[in-house]
Amino acid sequence: MTSKRAFTLVELLVVIAIIALLMAILMPVLSKAKEQARDIVCRSNLRQYGIAATMYLEDNEHAFPPTHTYLFTSDWSTCQWHDKARWATVNGPMWPYLKDKNIHLCPSFRSIAKNRGQKHPWHDPQIPVEPQYGYSMNAHLGPFQAAWEAATGHFKKVTQIRHPANVFFFSEENIWPIWGMSVTVLNDTNLWIGPPYDDSGYDFFATFHNPTRGNLDKGTCNTVFIDGHAEKLVLMDGTLPEAKEKAWEVAWPAYPASPIDYPPLEE
Ligand SMILES: [Zn+2]
Ligand SMILES: [Zn+2]
Repeated sequence: MTSKRAFTLVELLVVIAIIALLMAILMPVLSKAKEQARDIVCRSNLRQYGIAATMYLEDNEHAFPPTHTYLFTSDWSTCQWHDKARWATVNGPMWPYLKDKNIHLCPSFRSIAKNRGQKHPWHDPQIPVEPQYGYSMNAHLGPFQAAWEAATGHFKKVTQIRHPANVFFFSEENIWPIWGMSVTVLNDTNLWIGPPYDDSGYDFFATFHNPTRGNLDKGTCNTVFIDGHAEKLVLMDGTLPEAKEKAWEVAWPAYPASPIDYPPLEE
């Protein structure tokens, strides 16, 4: 009775079931690890942006670059972030400091943009979706503030910023709007965070890093601050009003003073 003992069908099925179970346990862990690696690369990109900005400020009498035209001297088009042809003509005043082509694309953003890029608002189907950059600059800095008269020209120079470690310089935007949070999406290079009490339609920080239960509307993004340190920004872990208040706190250089009460600064 010492014949070769083979697996019975039941045993084989049990083994397959165990392997499937292990896979189910491991897959989220692996994808989480992958996202953590991408998140680190993104922060390192923004740290490079911070170094470039510091050099730019030193060479330009501490004056911030214009938010709409620091990369492209002609103003925005909705699809420029994925327009390879436009990227070939990049010639803005900050470009000489940002010439390393590897620092403009967050790896998480790159893969999300490939899936969702065709569906972003005001997309021109003539322009192929080849993501070129994913970072944009705090709209409250620099010489040009479109449309919002109350804030025009408040903060032209880095020497006017009282707390450079608390005010973001560059960050990420989604390519889809989130109800109650943002109206516009990544289009130009201007990231325009509005005060939480104003719903008239602003940009908002990205939410696709480390998404809670895979929900890309409920994650984090990365930012680099004026002092050059890069940080993960956690905004969606609260109710909507709290997230908007936190966003305003890192965007408006005179927080908590209201922009309406805030007189223009001397240069
Ligand atoms: Zn990123
Ligand atoms: Zn487009």
